[in-house]
Amino acid sequence: MNDCDAIRIGLSARLDGEDPGTSVDTLDHHLSGCAECRGWLAGAERVTRQARAHPVAVPDLTLSILAAVNADRRQRVDDAARNRRQILRIAVGVAAFVQLALAVPVLFNGGVGPHATREMASFDIALAVGFALAAWRPERARAFVPVAFVLAACLTLTSGFDIASAEVQLRHEAGHIAALVQAGLLWALGRGTVLRSPRTVAA
Ligand SMILES: [Zn+2]
Repeated sequence: MNDCDAIRIGLSARLDGEDPGTSVDTLDHHLSGCAECRGWLAGAERVTRQARAHPVAVPDLTLSILAAVNADRRQRVDDAARNRRQILRIAVGVAAFVQLALAVPVLFNGGVGPHATREMASFDIALAVGFALAAWRPERARAFVPVAFVLAACLTLTSGFDIASAEVQLRHEAGHIAALVQAGLLWALGRGTVLRSPRTVAA
């Protein structure tokens, strides 16, 4: 960088009201001896005056920036809801598969105990298919929620009768808790679908 370049950087800074980085005497001394820098300074002063007289219209981007920020936030909320729904779908699907895997052998071979009958296995298989459908098409999960809760309520009730008649087995109790868990999962899955549906339609 030669002298002129350094001086012009200082002159430019002084025009902008900033620290020139060199003493004013140095700048003026150079200007008095350098016609090229005097010409350059005259041009720079002209440009600066014009810029001050005709300020560039800066568009107000506040609204569009806020909109972009909101869209980004909505996107993150949507992503979180989608992840949550995926987890619920997997949970409902796995529950359906386990139920099916337990019920199908009973249907063909019969089971042990008063609850493990072919008739019960038939109901379990039908339910498992319902849960699997809900996992596959979550928007349909809501339709199964009342069914699942009525079943869970009835199982809890019969569990009470069983305890009263001392027929209770731990395995059956576990089955009743599983029914409650399934109903809860289904409810959560259906609920997530309801919350999202207006935006899904709009998209
Ligand atoms: Zn110069």
